[in-house]
Amino acid sequence: MALDMAFFEDMENRIPKGKVRTRFAPSPTGYMHVGNLRTALYTWLIARHNGGDFILRIEDTDQGRLVEGAVDVIYKTMAECGLTHDEGPDVGGPVGPYIQTERRGLYSKYAELLVEKGAAYYCFCEKAESEEESGDFNHAADPCRNLSQEEIAVNLSAGKSYVIRQKIPTGQTTFHDVIFGDITVENETLDDQVLLKSDGLPTYNFANVVDDHLMGITHVVRGSEYLSSAPKYNLLYEAFGWNIPTYVHCSPVMRDAQNKMSKRHGDPSYEDLIAKGYLTPAVLNYVALLGWSPKGEIAEQEIFSLDELTQVFDIAGISKSPAIFDIAKLDHFNAVYLRAMESAAFHKVAEPYIRQSVKNPKIDTAMIAPLLQARLETLAEIPEKVDFFDTLPDYGTDLYINKKSKTDEDSSLEILTAYLPVLEALDAWNHDTLYQSMVDYAAEHELKNAKLMWPVRIAVAGKTVTPGGAVEICHILGKDESLRRIRIGIEKLSNR
Ligand code: GLU
Repeated sequence: MALDMAFFEDMENRIPKGKVRTRFAPSPTGYMHVGNLRTALYTWLIARHNGGDFILRIEDTDQGRLVEGAVDVIYKTMAECGLTHDEGPDVGGPVGPYIQTERRGLYSKYAELLVEKGAAYYCFCEKAESEEESGDFNHAADPCRNLSQEEIAVNLSAGKSYVIRQKIPTGQTTFHDVIFGDITVENETLDDQVLLKSDGLPTYNFANVVDDHLMGITHVVRGSEYLSSAPKYNLLYEAFGWNIPTYVHCSPVMRDAQNKMSKRHGDPSYEDLIAKGYLTPAVLNYVALLGWSPKGEIAEQEIFSLDELTQVFDIAGISKSPAIFDIAKLDHFNAVYLRAMESAAFHKVAEPYIRQSVKNPKIDTAMIAPLLQARLETLAEIPEKVDFFDTLPDYGTDLYINKKSKTDEDSSLEILTAYLPVLEALDAWNHDTLYQSMVDYAAEHELKNAKLMWPVRIAVAGKTVTPGGAVEICHILGKDESLRRIRIGIEKLSNR
């Protein structure tokens, strides 16, 4: 077979040079797990820190695992996180296409080139997939390894189904990883893996080598589950005569000391975390520190914006040991981020959560939001905290008993009954007038403020733990609703 060498030359000429180029290469699974998000973030940071290019490549050659809408999840997540790409399926670029199935014609050409170079071979054996995966057949004894040109030609023209396999040479292979150092393996432990499947599509292990080279990727950042395949990649690069990129294999993100995080076992993906009320920048900040730590002057710093990370991120700070995902730690980060938000921005993110339980359109969510901002770890705590604004819970009068405020049911009944007409007569209903009315009343009657404010709060909220106190809640509920609730309180206390 004569290969079109001009084609390969042309492909080489397209490769951008002289710049750091990294890629995030997700398979479209329909969600972004935390480990993947971290890979995306580190990969992006390496490119941005070095003024390089960041490329998005979709690895969809595993047709059996395709999920509808999954690519959109990738775009959406990357955009939400601010991990902008310079090249990718949607924005194009000099070395596209950026979706592997759209590159399919290319892989067979490179597989044939590798056959020509003696580093791969046509295999016509029919092997069950299970047999393939178990790896317990002897590749060295595979008769296809040594077929003559003529035999291959005969089989091909007879239309026999085939795969193309990597021909692992004898000897040892050493590869270098920035995190794990030099690793040497005996080649006999490596299998003659399939590079091109019988459907003409490449395996992941082949496609990523071809694509990383043709896209000019200088740093390959990925999960350490691919470490064991790295020697095979090196053999491929060497056979092609290509430069080997810098490998950065990251240890997994674990649920606990033994288990990796896994969506299948109920661990949250990025989308799950957002749905649970975590803020994207807090998640990114926490994820950045799962396996990377700052050094020197900033060694103790925990809170980093994406811009700050871009300034300070270095590969040397990536850890070899697996990181454990600790949701309590993420809660802490999220609380810090929530508190640091501008109040208008906080209102914007809190509003949908407030509206989950406060349906009454007369209640102004902008008045509730400031009461919540300093008291939350996640936005998902909001609906339960503010439900009483909508509907007064059916509470028991024991809530009026409070040691600290020195209140009980009798004192509460007496005070509420006496104070109700004062509120009824209050014309201007706002925070200041309400506050003034309550403290004046307490002073005139020689009561501690709490002795009045506790029963008012219980009457208007029907619960003991509330964002805001008596003044804020009365203000938000408005005069009519506050008075109605206080009357209900008096009735409950009278009929106990
Ligand atoms: N498609 C692979 C994955 O989603 C990417 C691995 C790599 O980055 O090389 O795990």
